[in-house]
Amino acid sequence: MAKDPFGALREEAWEANQALPRSGLVLYTFGNVSVFDRDRCVFAIKPSGVPYDALQVGDIVIVDCDGHVVDGRMRPSSDTKTHAVLYRHFPDLSAIAHTHSTHAVAWAQAMRDIPIYGTTHADHTPAAVPCALPLSDARIAGDYEAETGLQIVEEYALRGLDPLDHPMVLVGGHGPFTFGDSGAKAVYHSVVLEELARMAWMTEGLAPGAPELKRALVEKHYGRKHGEGRYYGQ
Ligand SMILES: [Zn+2]
Repeated sequence: MAKDPFGALREEAWEANQALPRSGLVLYTFGNVSVFDRDRCVFAIKPSGVPYDALQVGDIVIVDCDGHVVDGRMRPSSDTKTHAVLYRHFPDLSAIAHTHSTHAVAWAQAMRDIPIYGTTHADHTPAAVPCALPLSDARIAGDYEAETGLQIVEEYALRGLDPLDHPMVLVGGHGPFTFGDSGAKAVYHSVVLEELARMAWMTEGLAPGAPELKRALVEKHYGRKHGEGRYYGQ
């Protein structure tokens, strides 16, 4: 059999999708991860409706940035167009994960940004996790999955955010999308986001109106891992 030209990409996407149920963030077939090949402008994504424990590397579908299947025997995830729009507008991303994890969804359903209350949050992103508004009726009636991607893109533009510095986002009434420089990292950000969402919820329960983390601590924690003079964990 000829070697699969998308073999490595499929393998990475398969591994990352397998990590989702292990993380405890997904039920049934919920959730999906894609991994982007910038040079070929294609990404690998989970097929639609396949249980995680039955998923084979060869089931992973290869799709172009317009959301068209390039290679694969199965139908790609129903969220494929959201991923395609995000890669088209954010070509620096290497991977995207989407879950309906409980605490992150709770904030999305409350239509609230997740405030930056502590250093765990600041270790990963230097501001509140943004929550985009739910889609308008026109967007819902249109190409819904592609419009979901555009809703996210517009939220980043509106707030002047770089998705590499802000690798977690909520869509109001729906749930979280997270980004990474690898499939594993996108899943890692989904796991971290769920924990940040839980911690912030508990913080507000204990101390309604608690202040956000002071700027000096945000800068210290974000900067030592991600800034110019980063030194943490090296
Ligand atoms: Zn969803």
